[in-house]
Order: sequence, then structure tokens, then C-alpha cells
Amino acid sequence: MAYLGNPKNTIEVLQKYQFHFQKRYGQNFLIDGNVLERIIAAAEITGEDCVLEIGPGIGTMTQYLAEAAREVAAVEIDRNLIPILEDTLSGYRNVTVINEDILNVDMEKLAREKNGGRPLKVVANLPYYITTPIVMKLFESQVPLKSVTLMVQKEVADRMQAGPGTKDYGALSLAVQYYASPRVVAHVPPNCFIPRPNVGSAVIRLTRYEEPPVPAEDEKKMFALIRASFRQRRKTLANGLGNAPELAVTRQQTAAALEKLGLSPEIRGEMLTLEQFARLSNLL
Ligand code: SAM
Repeated sequence: MAYLGNPKNTIEVLQKYQFHFQKRYGQNFLIDGNVLERIIAAAEITGEDCVLEIGPGIGTMTQYLAEAAREVAAVEIDRNLIPILEDTLSGYRNVTVINEDILNVDMEKLAREKNGGRPLKVVANLPYYITTPIVMKLFESQVPLKSVTLMVQKEVADRMQAGPGTKDYGALSLAVQYYASPRVVAHVPPNCFIPRPNVGSAVIRLTRYEEPPVPAEDEKKMFALIRASFRQRRKTLANGLGNAPELAVTRQQTAAALEKLGLSPEIRGEMLTLEQFARLSNLL
């Protein structure tokens, strides 16, 4: 089977199977060989690696992954794509296609079965409608991960690597940066896909930390605090947290804790670093 990473071969496969794109599954297939090579290079796939691909589509990136990795597990929700994948990946013995919603997959079990419990590398051109739930599931589950290299909407990549005091900084920035070190490796225009998405895209590599970078005694509590802080962006942090019933902290308690950290009681949440959120959560 010829490589799919170009318009001609992709259209040929789509026509052969009379495939209809499903908008609800965020289907935009890559048709640019250069972008595919950059994704594989950024993910640093070696012949030792077991890769989890989320949403293989017609198998375009899967072909590249299968050639670089020892083993690939590709999880695709759309059952209409399964016969196509059987065809386009028929030349590879090291690929397993799983017809499932990634949010329902037991990834720990997958890592055990496919990689003896050693860390997986995740590579995906993600369906944009569920980027955040997928990223959070990857990090919050106990699945061992080395890195996660993703094509996402450009604005989401910006949010993932934003720092305090910027408009893109928020709960997603802090969640990603608690688990991983983010680095945008490419910007990708809409004409690299069929059909073209309405937004610009970016490839971002998230390298998983082995140890958390900040001393949060209770991660769940810290993230509840972070979410509440950004829910009311325009309010001071002390007021925002005081208004969040799930936290049961008063405005005065927050103001006192902020003072202990050497911060103004009038500060807004968007000014705090991840480390300051961790210390605040420990104090509260
Ligand atoms: N990897 C292919 C490529 O680069 O050309 C396709 C990428 S396309 C942006 C996203 C793929 O994810 C589609 O094939 C879509 O059917 C699949 N998908 C959408 N939601 C999914 C889910 N919840 N679980 C697994 N796959 C999903």
C-alpha cells in the first residue's frame, strides 16, 4: 500500500471505500508528508517504543509510526474506518487497531499487555472536540507515559504552554504544566488536511515529568482551587475562592494564606504560578 500522506492517495482511498466524513468525530485527515515527518521526529520514536495512537483515521500517520516503532496500538472510534485501516495497514505486522472510544479504553491494561507496563509514547492528530478530556485522562490515569505528541487547535497549544499574567493562562495551562513540560514544535495551516478545519493547528510535545515539579500535598484539592480561581477571572482570588461552595474556604482565610506567601490579598488568580498554587493549596 502506498503512503497516504498526500492528497492523491488519500482521495483514492476515500473514493474506493466511499467514505463519508463524520463531523461529530472531528475528522480532518493529514495530507502533508513534511508535517507527518515532523510529528514523528518530535515524538522521537525509536525501534524500542510502543506507541499509542489516538484516532488513526485511514492510517496515514499509523504507517509512519509502524515503520519507526516496535509496536503500535491505534484506537479509532468510527467503525466505518476499520475495514479501511485493515487495508492501508495490511503491510504491517506490528499494528493493532482497536475499535473503541479512547475515553473508554483501559490504557493501563494496554500498557501492561503491549509494553510490559513500561512507559508508552502517545502520538495523535486529535479530534479537536475532545482534546481536553483526552489530555486529562492521559495524565490523571495511572498509565505510564514517556511523552505525548499531539496535533491540536493552535489556541489550545497556546493555552497549554501559557504562563501567569497572560490571556491564555488558565486551568488547562496549569494542569498540563503540572504533569509535563510542553513545547510547540510546528504550526500547521488548514490546507494540510482533508477536509480543511476552520482553525489553525499546532503540534505540541508534552514530556511527562517523572516527579511532580511542585510540592502539592493534595493534587485534587489544588486542581479544585485552580478551577475555582479561573471561573471568575475578573475577581480577586480571595473573592473568587470565597464564592466557590465546593471549597469551603472564606475570603479571610485565603487572604491570610496569600499574605503568608508574600502575595497581595488583592491578587487575581491569573497572576499565580503553579508553585504558588501548590503552596496556597497546602496552606488552605
Ligand atoms: N490520524 C488521522 C490523520 O492524521 O489523518 C486522523 C486524525 S482526525 C483529526 C481524528 C480521528 O480521531 C478521526 O479518525 C476520528 O474518527 C477519531 N476519533 C474521534 N473521536 C474519537 C474517540 N473518542 N476515540 C477514538 N478515536 C476518535
